[in-house]
Amino acid sequence: MAAFPPDSPGDGFGRFFLPGPTEVHPEVLEAQLLPMIGHRGDQIVALMGEIQEGLRTLFRTEKPVFLSTSSATGLMEAGVRNGVGRGLLALVNGAFSERFARIGEACGFPVERMETPWDRPHDPGEVARRLGTGRFDAVSVVHSETSTGMLNPVEEIAEVVHDFSDVLLLVDSVSGVGGAPLYADKWGLDFVLTGSQKALALPPGLSFGVASDAMAARSERAPGKGLYFDLTEHARQLEKLQTPSTPALSLMYALRVQLARIRAEGIEARWERHRTMAERTWAWVDELRDRRGLELSVFAPAGHRSPTVTCIQLPTGLHGPRVVAELRNRGYVIATGYGEMKGDSIRIGHMGEHDVEGLERLLGELEVELVGKE
Ligand SMILES: *Cc1c(COP(=O)(O)O)cnc(C)c1O
Repeated sequence: MAAFPPDSPGDGFGRFFLPGPTEVHPEVLEAQLLPMIGHRGDQIVALMGEIQEGLRTLFRTEKPVFLSTSSATGLMEAGVRNGVGRGLLALVNGAFSERFARIGEACGFPVERMETPWDRPHDPGEVARRLGTGRFDAVSVVHSETSTGMLNPVEEIAEVVHDFSDVLLLVDSVSGVGGAPLYADKWGLDFVLTGSQKALALPPGLSFGVASDAMAARSERAPGKGLYFDLTEHARQLEKLQTPSTPALSLMYALRVQLARIRAEGIEARWERHRTMAERTWAWVDELRDRRGLELSVFAPAGHRSPTVTCIQLPTGLHGPRVVAELRNRGYVIATGYGEMKGDSIRIGHMGEHDVEGLERLLGELEVELVGKE
């Protein structure tokens, strides 16, 4: 194997807890070394066919799953360009939901932000009230807010949106799909997307999405959808198990192997493993506070926490970037808080291929680090 990059802990799997990109299993990394195949013809059809089956399981859908050679932001833009007409109601309570709003503006659509404090989940009743104005035909929401560790009530929001027949719900589940329960068909999500490098534990560069029939119909008529992210063309090519342009073949080889690993574990067992890691992290924060008197807290309120990422607020006197740097000296990688929260918080990505035992080792190191500094 190639040498580790200088900022990687370097000695073995299970020490890289960034909330994206996440650690990729060596077997999955290695799958990328296969030779190229043509992106038209039998071989790609066989590969896409195999991949489709696994992707449908992840999204809990019977529909075809779009495969885009772009980071997840590309499919967020696809959702906006194909799914918004007269106006976007953007539910904002973190950095990635703010990005959805900015994409709407950058694409020239009228956007209204429904701002919720970052430590609160969105209120479905407030969504209904705003939709009652008739000014919107699309709502954007982030399922698992990777910037704060919030899990927004997507199922409840979908129920509200369904009361408005011409409104589509666009869902970013980039750090959700594969780690947090999500049911694209049962919940009636009009467009739901994810990226390769979060809970799916693949290298970055691919993103995946599912569209409802209503979204597909809206896409057909969308005047400003452009070419690269034209979902109607993606759907047409998917019928032939192909993509409009050359896909990232090497990443697809990795995806095929990772989907087989996920199938072997079982999607429900995978969700359960993530929930167990999250609960262990939250309990550890409480223990440290109660046992050691450290003023730590989980940023997201109980009952609304993501199973894939936890943002922990640090006591005064502890600096996020310093904690992260010193933990790296101990051979472990985590993240600081996002944006303005950088100074006084840290984030642990307990997603992808990690397990409770590995997480326990990380928390042990972190505890020495934090308590030693008190
Ligand atoms: C990481 C992330 C994104 C952006 O994904 P890219 O692949 O970097 O474009 C969007 N939304 C959420 C919730 C994320 O965690």
